[in-house]
Parts: sequence; C-alpha cells; structure tokens
Amino acid sequence: CGIVGYIGKQDAAPILLDGLRRLEYRGYDSAGISIRNAEGFKTTKRTGRVENLRKAVLGSDHGGDIGISHTRWATHGGVNDMNAHPHVSWNGKMTMVHNGVIENFAFIRRELEAKGIDFSSETDSEVLVNLIAFLYEAERDSNGTSDLEALMKSLRGALSQVEGTYGIVLLCSDLPDTMLGARKGSPLLIGVGNGENFLASDVTAFAGRTQNVVYLDDGQIATVARGDFSITTMDEVAISPIINTISWDI
Ligand code: GLU
Repeated sequence: CGIVGYIGKQDAAPILLDGLRRLEYRGYDSAGISIRNAEGFKTTKRTGRVENLRKAVLGSDHGGDIGISHTRWATHGGVNDMNAHPHVSWNGKMTMVHNGVIENFAFIRRELEAKGIDFSSETDSEVLVNLIAFLYEAERDSNGTSDLEALMKSLRGALSQVEGTYGIVLLCSDLPDTMLGARKGSPLLIGVGNGENFLASDVTAFAGRTQNVVYLDDGQIATVARGDFSITTMDEVAISPIINTISWDI
C-alpha cells in the first residue's frame, strides 16, 4: 500500500517512520521497516498502527542511514507480523517492500521450493524477493560481473518473469550505497535531496524534506545512491529524468 525508502547521511528510521505516518491516510493493516547495518538488515514488522511499529523500533537498535519501509494492505496471506513487509530473502541478502499483486506467485513459489528455497510468509511479495536473490546468486558466479551488474540483471530477470502489478524498493547487503526501485501499474517516485534521496509511493511521504520529485513510469528501474540516481528501462535504455518542483504550502 505505502512505500518509503531513504538513502543519505541521516538516521533513516525516524525519517521512514515519519513517512509511514504521513501515508496512514491511505489505509493499511500492518507496517514494517528494514534498516541496513554492519551485520545485514535489522527488520521489524507489526500488525496494526504505525505507532505500534514505532514503539518496537524505539526499543531496539535500528541505527543506519539506509532503509526501506511499508504499510501493507493485505491481498495474499493473512494479516500477521510475518506477512507484513519488508520481506527478507531466504539467504538474508536482500530486503524488499512491494505494493501490488504478483499474479503468478504460486507457480514461481513451487519452482523455487523445488530448488530448496525456504519461505517464511504466505505472501505473493516474498516470491519476488526470493526470485531476485536466487537469480543474483547465479549471476554472481559468472566471471567478471560486478555486484551491481549482477543485481541489475537478476532484478530485470525476475521482473520479466512476474505477472501482475508492482511498485518495489529493494536493498542488497553486498551494495551498501545503492537502493533500487521499479514499477509496473503501481506508483513510485524519487525524492531528490541534497546528499540524500528517497523512493516512495506518494510525495507526501517526504513532505518538507525535498521539493524535487522525479515520477517513474511503468517499466522503469531507478538506481539510487546518496548523491545521485539514474533511471533505465527493462531493456537497459537510459532515461533523462525530469525533475518536478513541488510546493508544500498548498
Ligand atoms: N500483495 C502484497 C501483500 O499482500 C502487497 C499488498 C500491498 O500493496 O500493500 O502483501
């Protein structure tokens, strides 16, 4: 339902929780957050209000300057903590939030399970992060491929296999300076800041933090670092971004 991601120099958790609170008006049944740290990702998810999540996050160490967060409106899988987003891949390498519906998730899940991949939720969304992580392991084994190239290839490969709609934001533990976003049939935009950037489903998520917004189109992938970002298509064509200026005082 709602997505907020942050990469920058500030502590990510308070910024993400504030963003989730601003997205509450859209409705949701659970909320969660993943922050990158030295060990990998610190992920906390709670059913109910963003306030429940905020209390759980305040009580434990969620320090770090990159993170993703989500308010879920369940479509596949009951409302419980495990089914809330972000979903971390079975090997702990990736964390992802997803808006939308992956129609062919049952088929892909059976294929991955047959290859020994474990699932910890009932959602369509977990299938996508596990598919990306599975393809990434294979890409990394090929000689001369950088981690970023491998990640982009596995993301494109996975997105070309799924049917349905998605707005996603993804982090990979091998890439400490990169946040990826992609969309098809579900909104996603980049908030362009000064030494920090956002990926969100709605501009209100980063209200007051930056006025500069780039709207992604279906089929586009955003590669976002602290100081810059780029947009490419599924066919690896580079897109020149149009930066819109939002006025917050309307
Ligand atoms: N289909 C996903 C789920 O049920 C995402 C729902 C949403 O857009 O919040 O977990």
